[in-house]
Amino acid sequence: MQILLTNDDGIYAPGIQALYHALRADHQVTVIAPDRERSAVGHAITLHQPLRANRVSLNAHYNGYAVNGTPADCVKLGIYEILETRPDLVISGINPGANVGVNVNYSGTVAAAKEAALYGLPALAVSVHSREGLHFEDAARWVTVLAETVARQGLPRGTFLNVNIPDLPYDAIAGIRISRQGNGVFPDSFDKRTDPRDRTYYWQGGDRQVFDPDPDIDGPALAANYVSITPIKCDMTDYDTLAQIKTWRWEH
Ligand code: MN
Repeated sequence: MQILLTNDDGIYAPGIQALYHALRADHQVTVIAPDRERSAVGHAITLHQPLRANRVSLNAHYNGYAVNGTPADCVKLGIYEILETRPDLVISGINPGANVGVNVNYSGTVAAAKEAALYGLPALAVSVHSREGLHFEDAARWVTVLAETVARQGLPRGTFLNVNIPDLPYDAIAGIRISRQGNGVFPDSFDKRTDPRDRTYYWQGGDRQVFDPDPDIDGPALAANYVSITPIKCDMTDYDTLAQIKTWRWEH
């Protein structure tokens, strides 16, 4: 397969490098990733400054294009300008830190996969369940397996898979659980502090979400040491409400 690989942690992040090396054994992989960390930029694109894609190489074993833009920019630029043919699959990651529940809305990792899905390409967003990312190689092994399955089965146009993998050795992972996106809340997301000039400032954290104890939700599935796979749709229309509000009397 021809695979476009990107992330939101920057082209030199260990997660994307581990994935590159794992996928390269059987696939043609092109890395097009931000030139610096762009975590939590969501689906932002760059409109008011020029984009540059510089070829970079690390020890001759890792090559790619470093883009001074967002993850969504990387995918868009890759599809329209850099790649000569449409990729068969777009993979974003591996992000250190789970992208489950409400994080899906803020994540640059997820947005890159979403950008690919907007063009009808099958895509995976991949994250591991810890900030340390101690087992990227093991997670990458899981991704190679999942990529084959997605290539074989295909995905509906406009749908991508949000994959979260326990940060554990390959064989310590319990298996795969198909899950739905949680809507957990962040308790005390802000740290209120005082700067050296006695002015208040706020530092946003928000790593710890609280989920309903439902094993079919992404967060709990991951916490139970399963690879959590959630299909996500680009079309955010609420069709139930659409039908319902059609019956409302809207005019005076
Ligand atoms: Mn990130």
